[in-house]
Amino acid sequence: MGVLNTLATRALRISDKKSFEKEKSHLLDVFFENGYSRYMGQWAFLKASKNSLTKREPRERTPSVHLPYVQVTTDRIGRILKKHSIPVTFRPLNTIHMSLRSVKDPIDPKDMKGVYMIPCSCGTPYIGETGRSINPRISEHVADLKHRRAKSSALAEHAEKTNHHVCIEKASVIAKVSHFHHRKFREALEIEKRPSNLNREDGWKVSRCWVPALSS
Ligand SMILES: [Zn+2]
Repeated sequence: MGVLNTLATRALRISDKKSFEKEKSHLLDVFFENGYSRYMGQWAFLKASKNSLTKREPRERTPSVHLPYVQVTTDRIGRILKKHSIPVTFRPLNTIHMSLRSVKDPIDPKDMKGVYMIPCSCGTPYIGETGRSINPRISEHVADLKHRRAKSSALAEHAEKTNHHVCIEKASVIAKVSHFHHRKFREALEIEKRPSNLNREDGWKVSRCWVPALSS
């Protein structure tokens, strides 16, 4: 019944006199088709029109001006506005609160779960994700490169085959994502967005049709 009332009220509010009857009869048909009786539909419109009549007109607001206080300048503006009967309130330009820095230290995104990118000197990126924090995951990539674990690491394999320098120092966080499925999807999407990448084809896949819509 609430839905009927809402739709009836909306029709009443947004339709002009001419289109209202058309809209009303359309809605009554829709209500009926969705299992509500004609009586219930009429009742919703009756209630909506009663409500619109009893609704109070919004009070006329007196304009007022809220200004940051700058000595001399604001005083002058205030005097001019008062002459025209416009009430003025002032607020301080600097408060102690504004001068204090937040007690919370900003969290390094690399200390969070998420999706990251490591570029190679040839410009080809590697996209990764981790459900732990990103920093230790990057350290593992460093170890893989150091110990030339080409079998288990796509980065180490690329470095070994090409002799390129994997720019671990340029590793960056693409997105902080803690939810497992969202993270896996985001990683797959970021890989899909970069057709040339160092990733092996063992991760999640996204349909290419999503890429243009989600690449912004
Ligand atoms: Zn390379």
